[in-house]
Amino acid sequence: MPFLAFRAGSVRRPRKRLEENPVDFQFTPEVLELRERLEDFMAEHIYPNERLFLEQTQLAGPYGHAPILDELKVTARAAGLWNLFLPVEAGGTLTNLEYAPLCEVMGRSPMAPEVFNCAAPDTGNMEVLARYGTPAQKERWLQPLLDGEIRSAFAMTEPLVASSDATNIETSIHRDGDEYVINGRKWFTTGATDPRCKILILMGKTDPDSPDRHRQQSMILVPADTPGVRVIRPLPIFGYLGQLDKAAEVVFEDVRVPVENILLGEGRGFEIAQGRLGPGRIHHCMRLIGLAERALERMCRRADARTPFGAPLSEQTVTMERIAESRILLEQARLLTLKAAWAMDNFGNKAARTEIAMIKVAAPNMACRVLDWALQAFGGAGVTDDFGIAAAYATARFLRLADGPDEVHRNQIARLELRRIRELDPARTGGYADVLDLAAAERAGEVARQLYAGS
Ligand SMILES: Cc1cc2nc3c(=O)[nH]c(=O)nc-3n(C[C@H](O)[C@H](O)[C@H](O)COP(=O)(O)OP(=O)(O)OC[C@H]3O[C@@H](n4cnc5c(N)ncnc54)[C@H](O)[C@@H]3O)c2cc1C
Repeated sequence: MPFLAFRAGSVRRPRKRLEENPVDFQFTPEVLELRERLEDFMAEHIYPNERLFLEQTQLAGPYGHAPILDELKVTARAAGLWNLFLPVEAGGTLTNLEYAPLCEVMGRSPMAPEVFNCAAPDTGNMEVLARYGTPAQKERWLQPLLDGEIRSAFAMTEPLVASSDATNIETSIHRDGDEYVINGRKWFTTGATDPRCKILILMGKTDPDSPDRHRQQSMILVPADTPGVRVIRPLPIFGYLGQLDKAAEVVFEDVRVPVENILLGEGRGFEIAQGRLGPGRIHHCMRLIGLAERALERMCRRADARTPFGAPLSEQTVTMERIAESRILLEQARLLTLKAAWAMDNFGNKAARTEIAMIKVAAPNMACRVLDWALQAFGGAGVTDDFGIAAAYATARFLRLADGPDEVHRNQIARLELRRIRELDPARTGGYADVLDLAAAERAGEVARQLYAGS
């Protein structure tokens, strides 16, 4: 794998513009050593157990999980490869840039993130609890999540409204004395069918009439066994049930929780969501790079091994084009991921928002492209589950939605780009869009006449 040597930069005072600062992506020896250990673990424990994981996951379905995960979690924790995602501000030790190459390794296998206690949606939920939870909430929910003893879910999306715009969310959180009463219908609540899921972070409206649409929402902790929480059904993802993503539909009917369960306070839901789903979350991008790297490796091996019409597939120019293009796309995506991570670490999520939005579009689209080519190179085998390519393709494809639809990120990029351009002076940049003035148009006409009108 052609990795550059990256060293995570220390926090420094930003100059006026991101691009005016020296880019330093070099990994420390500690990070390189951690990556080596992760790769050893993958070789010894993950790849050899993937078939077993697949069989156990199929048998367990959406209401269970593969027992091999429990076994390997113990081994991973004992090896010190545990909770590596946890940011420094939340008690962890690695910066985003330092975590990027490690998360990429985990992304190579669908079972790896959970084995290392680095799987969504728990990672995001743990970060929320670490940042915004009270000491009591942390003791009750964060600690068992950090220990990998329980799992969690995040309930924001609703079937009845366009949830890519979270201001549309309708679930009500109504205060009644010392309790909040919750009513609403959610779906794509990943993990809710899993019996290990003990806590849901729910987003809903405490103040639907607030003139500030971004202050209407709150987030609240809902223990999964609270009366009125009804897991209606598991949702198949591309026809997979209980695999890829344990999405579920959940109804909340007069669910009562104590007022202490509110996170950060009423009206602060958006603030938390921005941290959880927005700028801070590029783990999916890091993992998708590992997913696509593995697919490319498999594509190359398959292309060497198969000989249709007298020549190895790897000597057909169409295959070579696809291999080359995959490498180009992968390198582009990795560099942009690292730049986003570096910018977040050094200048904060706000300064890095364009890079974050760009990689959220670029990474899943890159992975879809590479996986589609890999799938094609495998022929019929590509759509079976023998090589994991079909499931990986489905994963990359749903991540064009699950982490916010492409269009929403593109809109944000475009708005930021327009704002940036408006601040430039076209006299310095040459980026004019003015209509040619009449004198210049007349001069151009004169030149044309002299050249072509024979006068
Ligand atoms: C596998 C999976 C797991 C998920 N896990 C969770 C989870 O754990 N918890 C949770 O709460 N949610 C989860 N989600 C939901 C996900 O966050 C939403 O599906 C996503 O935010 C889009 O919301 P929506 O489905 O309501 O689509 P809508 O908001 O109805 O949007 C539909 C489409 O409209 C288009 N669109 C939207 N906005 C714009 C725009 N501004 N300009 C142009 N076009 C636009 C896009 O093409 C978009 O796909 C998951 C989704 C999937 C697929």
